[in-house]
Amino acid sequence: MESVKIGKQRVIIHRYNTIIVGAGAAGMNAAVHLYEFFTQKGIRDAQSRIAVVTAGVSLGASRMSGSDKQTYYKMGTSPDVPDSALEFAKTLTAAGCCHGDLALAESIGSLREFYHLVQAGVPFPHDSTGSFLGYKTDNDPFERATSAGPKTSKMMCECLQRQVVRYGIRIYDQQEVAHLVTAGKRITGVITIDKKSLNAKNFGINVFLCENLILAAGGPGELYKTSVYPKNQSGIHGLAFRAGMPAENLTESQFGLASTKFRWNVSGSYMQVIPRIFSTDSNGGDEREFLADYFPTMSKMATNIFLKGYQWPFDPQRIENCQSSLIDILVFNETQKGRRVFMDFRKNPVGTKSMKKFELNDLEEEALVYLQKTGALQKTPIDRLAQMNQPAIDIYTEHGINLRKEPLEIAVCAQHNNGGFAVNHWWESGIPQTFVVGEMAGTHGVKRPGGSALNSGQTGSLRAAEFIANVYGADMPSKNSAKNEIKARAGELITRLSGFGRSRGRNAKDVIAEIQQRMTASAGHIREINDAHKELTKAVALFNRIKQDGIAIKSTKDIPSAVRAEHLALASVAYLKAIVSLLEQGSGSRGSHLVLSPGGNRISSSVVDREGIEIRFKPENKGLRNSILRVEYDPKLPDLFRCENINPRPIPTERKAFEPAWKDYRQGKIYG
Ligand SMILES: Cc1cc2nc3c(=O)[nH]c(=O)nc-3n(C[C@H](O)[C@H](O)[C@H](O)COP(=O)(O)OP(=O)(O)OC[C@H]3O[C@@H](n4cnc5c(N)ncnc54)[C@H](O)[C@@H]3O)c2cc1C
Repeated sequence: MESVKIGKQRVIIHRYNTIIVGAGAAGMNAAVHLYEFFTQKGIRDAQSRIAVVTAGVSLGASRMSGSDKQTYYKMGTSPDVPDSALEFAKTLTAAGCCHGDLALAESIGSLREFYHLVQAGVPFPHDSTGSFLGYKTDNDPFERATSAGPKTSKMMCECLQRQVVRYGIRIYDQQEVAHLVTAGKRITGVITIDKKSLNAKNFGINVFLCENLILAAGGPGELYKTSVYPKNQSGIHGLAFRAGMPAENLTESQFGLASTKFRWNVSGSYMQVIPRIFSTDSNGGDEREFLADYFPTMSKMATNIFLKGYQWPFDPQRIENCQSSLIDILVFNETQKGRRVFMDFRKNPVGTKSMKKFELNDLEEEALVYLQKTGALQKTPIDRLAQMNQPAIDIYTEHGINLRKEPLEIAVCAQHNNGGFAVNHWWESGIPQTFVVGEMAGTHGVKRPGGSALNSGQTGSLRAAEFIANVYGADMPSKNSAKNEIKARAGELITRLSGFGRSRGRNAKDVIAEIQQRMTASAGHIREINDAHKELTKAVALFNRIKQDGIAIKSTKDIPSAVRAEHLALASVAYLKAIVSLLEQGSGSRGSHLVLSPGGNRISSSVVDREGIEIRFKPENKGLRNSILRVEYDPKLPDLFRCENINPRPIPTERKAFEPAWKDYRQGKIYG
C-alpha cells in the first residue's frame, strides 16, 4: 500500500479507475454493473479497478429504512393492463420541474433493473404464471408498484452486495468522506477519515484517487430534527457543493407520518387498517381524539385515515374539504402544542359524541372494497393488519415494539429529497467524470410516485456504469497524477483537523442540533418567507463562524462528527437559500410543503402556528412548474449560493428506424 507522510500524519493512498461513494442500493448496483460492463469489454481484472467507499456498510436509507411494504416502482407487469415508457415518463413529470430525458430513461430502465434485482435474488412476489404482482402507490394512476416486503431496499443491498463480494470488488468500510479533491475541471479523488484506525495520534487519512467518481452517498437526513431518515445518514452534500457541483429542486423534500421511537414510515397497510389516532400531553396523560373535531362524520374520518396509506406524503393539495393530508396538518398541530400523537392498532377510531360509532360497512366505497378484496374485515385494526400484512407487525416486534400491546408514537417527519445534484441523462454531473446516483441525484420533480426513488437509483447507476465503460474506459490513475494536489489538499485537511483540538468554537453536537432545529422548523413541510429569510441569515452566520473558529473536539474520535457538522452547515445554507429564492418568486404550496400566507386559504380557525395564529396557506403557483431552481456554491456571495431558473428538458421524442439507430449504437454515437 502506498503512503506518504504529511506532517506527523501517515496518509494512505489508493488508486482505482472508479470510486463509488456509498454502499446503499444505488452504490452497490453501480459496482455490479461497472464490473460487468468492464468484463464484457475484455478487462480481466475489473474488480481491482473499482472500489466502494462508505461511512458504514450497514448504514444509509436503503439498509435501514422502510415501511409496511417498501415499494419499487417500475413499468406495469400486469398481464392485462397495458403500459408504455412514455406513459410512465408522463407520470414522473406530471407535477412539473422534472427533466423529461431523465424520466424517460428511468421508465425504460425500470424493467431492466427490476429483472436485474429479481435475478440477483430479491424475492419480488409473482403468481403461478410468473406475473409480478403490482399495487397502487402515491401519485400513481396505474398499479406499477411492487414490493418484497417492509425491507425491500435492504434486500436489494444485500443481494447486490453478494454479487459485489463474488466479483471480488473491495468495499472500504467506516470511511467518513472529508473532502473531494478537485484538479482542473475534475474531481480526482476522495479524502476520507478511516474511523477504524482513528486514534490519539492518527487521523486515519486515506486518499482514494480515481479517474471516475460515482457519488451514491444518499440524502442529507441529518439536516432534520424530526426525521425518519436513519440516524447518521448525513450524506456529503456540503462537500459536493464545495467541489462545484450545482443542485436542482432542493426545495422539494418529502414529509410524512412516521414512527419516531423506531424510525419507520407508517404508510400503506398501517393506515389502510384504520387504527385509532389520538394525542396525549407530554407525559402520556389527557388522551384526546383530536382528529374527530375536524371531520364531519366518522365515515369521512375513517376513510381518510385509510387513504393516507397510499396518499402517504404530506400533500398541500389534499388538505381542503377534509382530505387525507388534513391528518398530517392536525398531527403537526398537536405536536406544536407540545402534545404527543399515537396510532393505536388495538382500537378502531373514536369520534365525537355526535358521530356514529366506527363501522367498516360505513366506509366510503374505495376503502370498503379494498378491505373486502384483501379479506381485512376483522374487528380490530391489529387483526386486519395481521390479515393484510403480518411482516408489517413483525418489523416492529424486531425493534422491541409490540403493536398488540402498546400504541405507536408518530410525527410528521422528513423522509426524502426529490432534488439533489444536477445530472444529465447518463447521470453525469456538471463535473466531467463525476456521476451522481441514488437519492443524492436530483432526478425527481415536485412529486414522485412512491417507489420511484429506488428505481431511479438502480437505473441511474446502470446508466453511469455504461457510460464510464464505453466512454471513459478502465484506465487507472497514473502514479504521478495529482501528486502535488493530493499533498496540498491532504495537508490542508490535516491542518484544519489539527486546529479542531485547539478550537474555541462550538462542538459538533451543538452545531448539528442547531441545524436540525432550524431545518425542521423553517425548511420542513411548513414554510413562510420572512421566517425562511431570517433563518437563512442565521445559517450563513453559523457557517461563517465555523469557518473562522472551527469545531471544538475533545479527542480525535470526535473528528468525523466535526467534519459532518461542517458540511451539514453548508448544506443547510443551500437548502434555505433555495427555499427563500423559490418563495421570492411567488411560489405557493406544492409537492410536500405548505406555504403560509396571511391572506391565503383557510384550513380551520383552530389550526394554528407556533404563535397561536391561525394558519392560512397560499395555493400552488402553477406558473413555476416549468422552471427548475438550480443552486451553486459561490463563496463570494453573501448568501454563499447563486440561484438560477432553468427549464426542464423535454421527454425525448426522436424515434429512429432500426438500421440508423443500430449504426449509432455500433459507432458509440449514443454516448455523444
Ligand atoms: C423511511 C423511509 C422509507 C422509504 N420508502 C421508500 C419506498 O418505499 N420506495 C422508494 O423508492 N424509496 C423509499 N425511500 C427512499 C429510499 O429508501 C432512498 O432514497 C434510497 O434508499 C437511497 O438509496 P441510496 O443508495 O441513494 O442511499 P443510501 O441507501 O442512503 O446509502 C447512502 C450510503 O452512503 C454512505 N454515506 C452517507 N454519508 C456518508 C459520508 N459522509 N461519508 C461516507 N459515506 C457516507 C452511507 O453509509 C451509505 O452506505 C424511503 C426512505 C425512508 C427514509
